Amino acid sequence: MSGKAIPKPDDLNLKFFQKIAETGRMHVQECRRCGHHSHPPRYYCCECFSPDWRFKEIGGDGTVYSHTLSHYTAEPAWRDELPFATVVVELDEGPRIVGSARTADPASIRIGQRVRVLPERRGDDFAFFTVVFDKDGYPDV
Ligand SMILES: [Zn+2]
Repeated sequence: MSGKAIPKPDDLNLKFFQKIAETGRMHVQECRRCGHHSHPPRYYCCECFSPDWRFKEIGGDGTVYSHTLSHYTAEPAWRDELPFATVVVELDEGPRIVGSARTADPASIRIGQRVRVLPERRGDDFAFFTVVFDKDGYPDV
């Protein structure tokens, strides 16, 4: 993964990524008033408009909501990984999150497959999200 550009999140996204980088665990925003989960984080709950929330640790389990397979990239740092799959995962808590697939056969990805999203820390302010597949076995987290 060396040489890949590291995004510089700000505002609530920075707090979200800092929590993940600090703990090494997946988190999602949870409303303390109604329990609704949100991603990306928001100042006010989109269900009850409460400003009272926290980042709740989650296991990262979910299902493939959508995916795409890239055979070309303009970014040199990603060329060694072609073809690579980008996956939208619907977390069991409800929100959807985007990650990069880690599988030997990215063309075999199917909507509805069980997956787990794992954070890969990149400094204090960011983490990539890697999607691993049940058939590959989940690493110990
Ligand atoms: Zn709420």
